[in-house]
Amino acid sequence: MNDLLPIATTQQVGKPIVIAGPCSAESEEQVLRTAHALAEYGIKIFRAGIWKPRTKPGGFEGVGEPGLEWLKTVKAETGMLVCTEVANKIHVEAALKAGIDMVWIGARTSANPFAVQEIADSLAGTDMPVLVKNPVNPDLELWIGAIERIYNAGIHRLAAIHRGFTAYGKHLYRNMPQWHIPIELHRRLPNLQIICDPSHIGGKRELIAPLSQQALDMGFDGLIIESHCDPDCALSDKSQQITPEVLNFILNTLVLRETTQTTESLTLLRQQIDQIDNDLIEIIAKRMRVSREIGQYKKEHRMQIVHTNRYDDIMKSRMKLAEELGMSGNFMRTIVEAIHEESVRQQIEVLNNRIK
Ligand code: PEP
Ligand code: MN
Repeated sequence: MNDLLPIATTQQVGKPIVIAGPCSAESEEQVLRTAHALAEYGIKIFRAGIWKPRTKPGGFEGVGEPGLEWLKTVKAETGMLVCTEVANKIHVEAALKAGIDMVWIGARTSANPFAVQEIADSLAGTDMPVLVKNPVNPDLELWIGAIERIYNAGIHRLAAIHRGFTAYGKHLYRNMPQWHIPIELHRRLPNLQIICDPSHIGGKRELIAPLSQQALDMGFDGLIIESHCDPDCALSDKSQQITPEVLNFILNTLVLRETTQTTESLTLLRQQIDQIDNDLIEIIAKRMRVSREIGQYKKEHRMQIVHTNRYDDIMKSRMKLAEELGMSGNFMRTIVEAIHEESVRQQIEVLNNRIK
């Protein structure tokens, strides 16, 4: 994909692309009020979802085609480029007919190759810029596959949106950033622009600024941020939407970093290593939490802490797996010993009532 082109020529050299607008178009008044405020602050690309894929039935599923008329008005009155989500052929045809400038493929759609192919086929022969969100699951190949389907339809103004990945359970983030995945995407497709969506990663207003800064520090090409004239009354994603004023404030506080081409790929690899190490530490901490629960159980049942058979089984199976994955068994022995030692120490603390 050496002939990829930027999705828009609206951004100033050295500045990130900024796409902003509400999660959903709700009414003509809400769309225009938000759009005019954003245009005043210099935003050049406006987003609004017209068709909203909801996790469960019963949520606000978007206003549908009438919303396209509102986007046409935004374009005519503000001069901004307008952008919406498409999930099937009918959406693409309606967006093309309405003169929409850019479309994005949502995370639930990019996880489905049939849907992406249908979108690609209906875009063939046009020069519509397309933004492909990562699939909800952390599968880089599926993300690249979706991008390739669109590219193979002849679309070269193409970009990816990193919106984080679903994880089971409660976390700080609504969708886990797993930064090493977009970083690896950049390594694999260096000409592809990547835009970060801190709104859907964080799921909370207060996380938008730090996530945006992190994305710029990592060399992302731009940001797509949900902005609503009255976020508390939004019909979808209200806890992560910010007013145009707050958006402008955040954009003005972001620090832009210089990137040096020569060391870029080393930097990217190091960023992946940093992220993987963080993940490793978190996962070990999770193992310790389970281990403390076992400690509690052993305490309640007056059991001894170390069970030699169990330890031997763990050691053998972990060494075998490590060897299958190309690592030395002795190296894994050292790691398992160290983890086991810490695990026993924590269980002893539980037994002695020092921690829960
Ligand atoms: C959106 O951008 O409003 C949206 C639905 O996002 P995602 O597909 O990332 O969940
Ligand atoms: Mn949203």
